[in-house]
Amino acid sequence: MTIGVVGAGQLGAMMALSGYPLGLDFLFLDRSAATPAGRFAPVLAGDFSDPALLRQLAERSEVISFDWENISVEALRAATRGTRARIAPPLRALAVAQDRLSEKRTFERLGIPTTRFWPVDSRAGLDRAIGRIGLPGVLKTRRLGYDGKGQCVLRDPGDCESAWALIGNVPLLYEEFVPFEYEVSIIGVRSRAGEIRIYPLNRNYHADGILRLTLAPWHAPALLRAATRGLRRVLEAFNYVGVLTIEFFVRGGRLIANEMAPRVHNSGHWTLEGACTSQFENHVRAIAGLPLGDTRPLGHAAMINLIGKMPDRQSLLAESGLHLHDYGKEPRHGRKLGHCTIVESSTRRRDLRAARLLRRLYPQLPLQP
Ligand code: AMP
Repeated sequence: MTIGVVGAGQLGAMMALSGYPLGLDFLFLDRSAATPAGRFAPVLAGDFSDPALLRQLAERSEVISFDWENISVEALRAATRGTRARIAPPLRALAVAQDRLSEKRTFERLGIPTTRFWPVDSRAGLDRAIGRIGLPGVLKTRRLGYDGKGQCVLRDPGDCESAWALIGNVPLLYEEFVPFEYEVSIIGVRSRAGEIRIYPLNRNYHADGILRLTLAPWHAPALLRAATRGLRRVLEAFNYVGVLTIEFFVRGGRLIANEMAPRVHNSGHWTLEGACTSQFENHVRAIAGLPLGDTRPLGHAAMINLIGKMPDRQSLLAESGLHLHDYGKEPRHGRKLGHCTIVESSTRRRDLRAARLLRRLYPQLPLQP
């Protein structure tokens, strides 16, 4: 069976690496073959919404998936019409996740607590939104935002003009600023038969809007129960197939949903070595119509992203038990180039090692597990 994947980044690469042992084949579509998945899988190179290339992908695949959200739902739907290719996860879920307003409305509809929000389509609309939600708040582009891009924090009315000048030319959403204590995410998978498996909770540490560290399992039973409830609702509401992630803020012992991703997620990379079945393998199993694998953790994992510049491979691999994933990307400021994971026998050992590694990799960042 061939799985077509739109986007040949590191997420797609890890999907393929997890699917090959199951006897599955992969075909990617990306702007260039010089991508992480392109190092070992065929890539149709061109625009993500190129009808001829999408059509080729659909004709040569049994199922089509994606490794990032910013692709055209319409182009993908049109390309599969009349072919045997199924699309998973469902396009309905992709469309919702592409638009922060639909996403928030979906959380509300499903009874998942989220930030208070108001859509903004004009400069006067921003003043109205601030009148309703108050200050401080966060102004975000409805579409195409990621890793903290396309958003501005507004602390007083004087911040409006500069924020408007920066991102005011597209549809926006204004939401309350949440003085959260920390951030968590939950990742789950639903099969074509409707079976659901959920991974333990992830605790995520960001700097400059980019994920740096994930600790999992994060032991917070009440939060895990609430996050699981929310995730199940979304999986069922969309008749979902594949892996889905929800990110939450934690404040006063309660969860506030920030966003969802209809795909494998950076905060689940630890599952490659730290869970019975990785998120990548489970995504592939789900979309290929195979039974799901066990999501139980194998220990206490810490995953650290390698951003901007790859550290020295020699000395990193000299760390006992460290797993290195180098995506083979050109170094660039703020770019995710790889990650490393350790799996320990206790949370104490994990946290100590994670702190040591962080100090070594990001001496300038005040991140402490
Ligand atoms: P997002 O692109 O929505 O995931 O936002 C990136 C990061 O910005 C989040 O991980 C938070 O650290 C921060 N952030 C986003 N929205 C809010 C908010 N409403 N209140 C406080 N921090 C936020």
